[in-house]
Amino acid sequence: MSDFQKSGWYSSRVKKQLPKEAFNPVPTLLWGGLAYLSVVIASFLAIGLFDLHLVVNILLSFIIGASFAALGFLGHEILHGTVVRKPWLSELLGAIAFWPLSTGPKLWKKWHNLTHHIHTQDDDKDPDAWPTLEKISKMKYVRSIYSLPLPVRAFFSFASLTIQFSAHSAKMFFEYVKNLNPKKQSEAWLQILLPWATWFALLFVMGFEKWFFAFLLPLLIANFIVMAYISTNHRLNPLVPVNDPLANSLTVTVPKWVDVLHFNFSHHTEHHLFPAMSSKYYPLVKEQLKIMWPDRYHEMKMSEALLALWKTPRLYFENNQLVDPRLNKVYGSLGNGLNPKDIKSEDIQIEMEQDQNNWESKS
Ligand SMILES: [Zn+2]
Ligand SMILES: [Zn+2]
Repeated sequence: MSDFQKSGWYSSRVKKQLPKEAFNPVPTLLWGGLAYLSVVIASFLAIGLFDLHLVVNILLSFIIGASFAALGFLGHEILHGTVVRKPWLSELLGAIAFWPLSTGPKLWKKWHNLTHHIHTQDDDKDPDAWPTLEKISKMKYVRSIYSLPLPVRAFFSFASLTIQFSAHSAKMFFEYVKNLNPKKQSEAWLQILLPWATWFALLFVMGFEKWFFAFLLPLLIANFIVMAYISTNHRLNPLVPVNDPLANSLTVTVPKWVDVLHFNFSHHTEHHLFPAMSSKYYPLVKEQLKIMWPDRYHEMKMSEALLALWKTPRLYFENNQLVDPRLNKVYGSLGNGLNPKDIKSEDIQIEMEQDQNNWESKS
């Protein structure tokens, strides 16, 4: 598809079909946050005060991890200003919601709101976009990862979803903190150090074994849940020259009760069109997108999207294809020949240039 459109082109057309209240903040979502917070504190107390059976501890870890992830989704909403409008209040509530993931609001707004949303799937400017063959070919160590067989790479990349959010968040922190002015710099440091101080204090109070079930295992579970969404948001879509949310984003579908628990985080295309709108109204936006641009809109089951991620390499070639340099195969991306139900590849000749140590494609 060559006729890309900017987000505003779509949103101005969809907006006319939506009720006025869809643009109001929805503070009632905070009740959900309070419920998750209560569950987390009650589970901490249960693990800390009683010597529970291993199975009960693991079960509580899953409950805490799921609550951590849901609080992260709520924090994302809060920091887009869709829950409360007052900036100081949204920053405070956002900090609380992101406490378990230890991502401060200052960093998050710079990384997510001001960079990912503005430059989605731009290979140079989007900090969340996956690399191109051209870029990787110049990075010796990263390149060697792509020499492993695809199922091995897929296994490790899925296993790494249990740490990817925390690791990427730490990377973003050190990348952005140096560019902030001195006042914001100290605030950003405080916003990352305070949560970690809490978690280490908890370790000191509980001892390692209980802390493992109360915090460490839940953190890995929360990472996996948020990354299951984040990895399917854009990674099957092409890199694009224009920030076109219908071309560069994917909405996944999950059971209704999961959407309730996760504040409709599955509606990612809708979110990129209207980041300042509460997710409560995304089903209305979806309805319009499916009527107005059924051929451009991408939607698939979460399980299907994860399976497609497993089966395709994470390396872009000429922006709209995914390439496996080990097997010399290219796969389509969404809107460019990728059919998640029947994933096919084509042969391509990619050879290492001996003298320059780079990959190049031979046509
Ligand atoms: Zn996104
Ligand atoms: Zn967002």
